[in-house]
Amino acid sequence: MKFDPDSAKKLIAHTYKRQPLALVEGEGVKVEDDEGKEYLDFVGGIAVCALGHSHPNVAKAICGQSKKLAHVSNLYHIPPQVELAGKLAEITPKGIEKFFFCNSGAEAVESAFKLAVKHTGRGKIVAFEGSFHGRTAATVGATWNKSYREPFEALIPPIFEFAPFGDLKGVKDTVDEDTAAIIVEPIQGEGGVNVPSDDFLPRLREICDENNALLIADEVQAGMGRTGKWFACENWEVEPDIITMAKALGNGFPIGCMGAKSEVMDSFSPGDHASTFGGNPLACTVGKTVIETMEDEKLLQRAAKVGEYFKEKLEDLASKHDACIEARGLGLMLALELREEDVAKSVLSRAREEGFLINRTAGSVLRFVPPLIIKQEHIDELINTLDKILEEVS
Ligand SMILES: *Cc1c(COP(=O)(O)O)cnc(C)c1O
Repeated sequence: MKFDPDSAKKLIAHTYKRQPLALVEGEGVKVEDDEGKEYLDFVGGIAVCALGHSHPNVAKAICGQSKKLAHVSNLYHIPPQVELAGKLAEITPKGIEKFFFCNSGAEAVESAFKLAVKHTGRGKIVAFEGSFHGRTAATVGATWNKSYREPFEALIPPIFEFAPFGDLKGVKDTVDEDTAAIIVEPIQGEGGVNVPSDDFLPRLREICDENNALLIADEVQAGMGRTGKWFACENWEVEPDIITMAKALGNGFPIGCMGAKSEVMDSFSPGDHASTFGGNPLACTVGKTVIETMEDEKLLQRAAKVGEYFKEKLEDLASKHDACIEARGLGLMLALELREEDVAKSVLSRAREEGFLINRTAGSVLRFVPPLIIKQEHIDELINTLDKILEEVS
């Protein structure tokens, strides 16, 4: 049935600028709107649907577990939670051994802040220019974009300081004996898919050690295989003290998780933190299935290989068209930065008309975070279309 946009206008909070589009079905890398038009999905629910849409393993996990036991609360032991934690202990960077489960990225980051403050007894957290860590009061406080932060200043704890992303001297000047933690996205997502230079993350690790501060890797977007490693910080062999994940962990089923070194996580005592839904049997069964399916389908290797191909093609577009500044990214977390925001906007709508969903972030940056099952032929289709559109707009 055709969707009526006026009903959304009447009933839904106006917190999003939405594309004029209602998607009602999806399979693999394709989604379909309410009029039966098909799209190739290079957004993947914003880096969420790594296995593609309607993956049979995920559907089976949801149906099977929901008929067995969906929720009981953390008043009891939850076997699927322990199974998922065991799986995560295998794939997270060395040292990350204990896990707290919640329902979203922001909630995972928020729990990381609480843990860092409790563990160190300190009152300052250093974040980066260009960062995005969520929309709750604390996580938006660590988020760089002023327009997200300023209307809510009254709610935001005064514990955040920003350092320039990639500038080690700036970081050293910001970190002091009151710094509980540095929080960093190993590759900034929302900020425009910014990849740091090779010494940045290893030196952050050293700066944290020198100051007895914790290093929090926010892997909500870059983690879960997207860059060709389970977690993006592994590309620089950096071992954080705390790691946060969410987006692709449930392939669309809401789940978030904060992992930490045992000696850090053990600073939490019963009552320090909680979440009613967090880690329920249903979410954890889905999370475990997602990881196992990624292993079975060798999606890390795919993300690295297909991502490299995709990036080369984007680089070709960048050098061919004056409207572009550069292509960048790692694995299947890629971007094409254009010179002008208005041009980026019209490329995005033209692509949609041609049957391709892409995303725009940080003004003029086209972001590509497709399902990790995307094939070379899908990439070729998109690149040909973008080539044509960029020709038109310049
Ligand atoms: C999306 C995102 C978040 C917030 O996740 P939500 O599930 O929207 O709360 C936090 N950190 C990073 C790096 C993200 O990309």
